[in-house]
Amino acid sequence: MPRQNDSGVCYHAQTGEHVLAEFGVTAGKGLSESEVLHRRARFGPNTLATKRKVGIVTLLLRQLQSPVVFLLAGAAVLAALFREVEEAVAIVIVLGLNTLIGFFTEFKAARSIEGLQALETLKARVRRDGHDRMIPADELVPGDIVLLDAGDAIPADLRLIEGANPQVDESTLTGESVAVAKDAAPVPEAARLADRNSMLFRGTALTAGSALGVVTGTGLATEIGQVSKLVAEAGAGTSPIEKKLAHLSSQLVWATVALTLLIAGIGILTGKDAFLMAEASIALAVAAIPEGLPVVATLTLARGMWRMARQNALVEHLSAVETLGATTVILTDKTGTLTENRMTVRRFWLPSGEVSTNSTSEGSKPGDDAQLAALVKVAVLCNDAALDTPEAEGAGDPMEVALLRAGLEEGHSRKDLLMRYPAVRKVAFDSTSKRMATVHRHDNDYLYAIKGAPEAVLQSSHFISPEGQLAPLGPEDQKIWLERAAELAHHGLRVLACAAKAETRPDAAPYEGLTFLGLIGLEDPARRDVPGAIEACYRAGIRVVMVTGDHVDTARSIGRTVGLRCEADNVVEGVEVAQLTANGTDDFARIGIFARVSPKEKLDLVRAYQASGEIVAMTGDGVNDAPALRQADIGVAMGLRGTDVARESAAMILLDDAFPTIVAAIREGRVIFGNIRRFAAYLLACNLTEVLVVGIAVLLSLPLPILPLQILYLNLITDVFPAFALALGEGEGDVLDRPPRNPREPILGRAQWVRLATQSLMMSAAVFGAMWISTSLSFSPEATVTVTFLTLACAQLWQVFNMHSGRVPLFNNEITRNPWIWAALILCMVLLVIPAYLPALANILGLSAPDATMWTLILGLSALPTVFWQTMMRLRPQKSKA
Ligand code: ADP
Ligand code: MG
Repeated sequence: MPRQNDSGVCYHAQTGEHVLAEFGVTAGKGLSESEVLHRRARFGPNTLATKRKVGIVTLLLRQLQSPVVFLLAGAAVLAALFREVEEAVAIVIVLGLNTLIGFFTEFKAARSIEGLQALETLKARVRRDGHDRMIPADELVPGDIVLLDAGDAIPADLRLIEGANPQVDESTLTGESVAVAKDAAPVPEAARLADRNSMLFRGTALTAGSALGVVTGTGLATEIGQVSKLVAEAGAGTSPIEKKLAHLSSQLVWATVALTLLIAGIGILTGKDAFLMAEASIALAVAAIPEGLPVVATLTLARGMWRMARQNALVEHLSAVETLGATTVILTDKTGTLTENRMTVRRFWLPSGEVSTNSTSEGSKPGDDAQLAALVKVAVLCNDAALDTPEAEGAGDPMEVALLRAGLEEGHSRKDLLMRYPAVRKVAFDSTSKRMATVHRHDNDYLYAIKGAPEAVLQSSHFISPEGQLAPLGPEDQKIWLERAAELAHHGLRVLACAAKAETRPDAAPYEGLTFLGLIGLEDPARRDVPGAIEACYRAGIRVVMVTGDHVDTARSIGRTVGLRCEADNVVEGVEVAQLTANGTDDFARIGIFARVSPKEKLDLVRAYQASGEIVAMTGDGVNDAPALRQADIGVAMGLRGTDVARESAAMILLDDAFPTIVAAIREGRVIFGNIRRFAAYLLACNLTEVLVVGIAVLLSLPLPILPLQILYLNLITDVFPAFALALGEGEGDVLDRPPRNPREPILGRAQWVRLATQSLMMSAAVFGAMWISTSLSFSPEATVTVTFLTLACAQLWQVFNMHSGRVPLFNNEITRNPWIWAALILCMVLLVIPAYLPALANILGLSAPDATMWTLILGLSALPTVFWQTMMRLRPQKSKA
């Protein structure tokens, strides 16, 4: 056994046989399982250990870097200078608590995101003990035989052994964006990495053709593993919403510093006690900052990712959660997304006439049998799938499996056919040309088997053999066949045409001078849950547009079944996209279906929609879809039938490929944005109230209604739990009944600010009311501050009931139905009552045990703002109607 990728060993310069021999393996059989175990023990797993986890220390340090921490530390120093040791210690303790809460939430969020990323593991097709199967790419060992198809990511460094025109995108490794053609022939030993055409490198992707290679290096011994320090994968990153929130927080910090200096200045100028002023400044500083905001936001987004994952939508970045909620148009695939992708062959259209699969015996005309046999034979030969018995599941493209099943029912097994017609060449299916070809040796000749979209196959068919001998196929006949294809498509069938020819050479042009064999109609039922999901989109103001490579009539028929708005005049073919874009954007609004679309046109479509201001979610599965997926605001890749390349380009992966999952994810995105907006407004209203209360008291030379430590207690403990509860909200049932949000809208718009400022004013009024009554009742200063503090604390708790969206029933809305809210309220009440009655804590917080009169005052006054607000909300609609 050679050492892996030892710089002295140049596999690219050796012949394929030599490399195979060196690794002790044959291409036909692969390694044995026992040998694999042996090698895994020796070489370790095929992983790049550099995919760093967010370190604990980094996370802790990140908590300490926040401006809040500096401000509070400053406050502690100030307190110490004024010999308020108790206060200084308390601030430090609270600071420690805050750091810990922040640390644990972020830690949990980071780990759960990593957990999600781990769900998305790369698979590789490997040949071991003579059998091909899929294994996690981590389990590859040097010497493994790996089989690759277009669209596959390359899972390890491989020496190419055989290939059918393999082309590789090596831009990740070499920066070269043009695809490189690979070849099994050795290259000079001195060749640069970019010129080693006999090698396939981990981290790159096969964009065309197919390949078989032997693993020469795994894990860190791969080329990319050796430079992995340079490509160290970025972590989850910060989402726009987190940036917006961080920005908001830092603005508040600066505003606070300015305000504090201003008030302290006024105080000193008017000759107030320096100690009181210092205390007030500290109080203001801690009052203004919503310490809980970033932490709650991160947790909400991370939790959103998990909730989406549970509904089969894997989101790659936190930011996608946010964008999803603003989606205005979904461009969706047909096959497998709107339909089941469980195909059955229903009809054949032979030169002699139309035949249903279940009625081949009755009414069959002479000549049918031979024609049917020729058609089915080609469909089975020109095929990448595998199926042993008609009842089995089969492996590969469901359409090709359906063809194999029909073949078995007609008595043609692929295995037997391949014995008689060994395959020598394959031209893979490509969604631009919409056809594929295979070449088979037969006696001294070569049989070319072709299948594809009818117009694509007919275009190169010049002959037909109705009675066993060849007859020319003129343009008139081609037109008749296209009409027949349209008729099948009209019934919602997916239509495929087959053709064949015989040549003396295996390397002739595959799509020339073909003999047309007939049409095959396959049924692919629409998914049952799609109509409801499409209906939901329409209600939510989201347009749904089908973008398919399939026939116009098939697309329209399926579109009708699933309830897509697709009247006769709004179904167009991909070729018309260019013209539509030139005409301006108005035309786009009415189109429900784009049929016969090429991947290039998909990209143009995404751009055109974006140019008209839409937020586009776009589904895709093939290699060629990657540019469109990247261009879309939300690229959605298919987890089941998608290629690795598509998945890597997407922002979201559908584990079940199903359209309703996109809708569920959009709903979740909207709920999350609503929750973020809600708890941000909640926290800011609470903080603003504290600032108002302290600021007004200082300006009016009143004693402080709330002391600095009490403010800290509110901000860091009792505000955070209702905010968390708001973040866990399920949203109102009608989140999908409203139009999408404007993505440029800030988290808190003008309306939200006005609303939260009004609520703050009302809460402040309640606090001063409590202060006034307490003074009139000649309470002691201790008792007065207890009443004002608890009034504010409770008012903030009840404020949570004002955080619902829109006009909803008083006792049955998203807030009252949220059990977390009730849990948070109970917990907070306990957390407020304990310090009031526990002498040690009461002492630090400056509280005295409230009696019944005080409680009446507290509860009565604290309820006023919410009662007032709710009444106002209920009176307003009547006013606007009148
Ligand atoms: P979609 O997935 O949107 O239905 P595709 O681009 O996959 O569209 O397919 C477009 C057309 O190409 C199909 O209608 C069919 O006629 C043809 N086609 C699809 N898959 C194959 C294949 N594996 N071999 C040959 N032709 C195919
Ligand atoms: Mg397809």
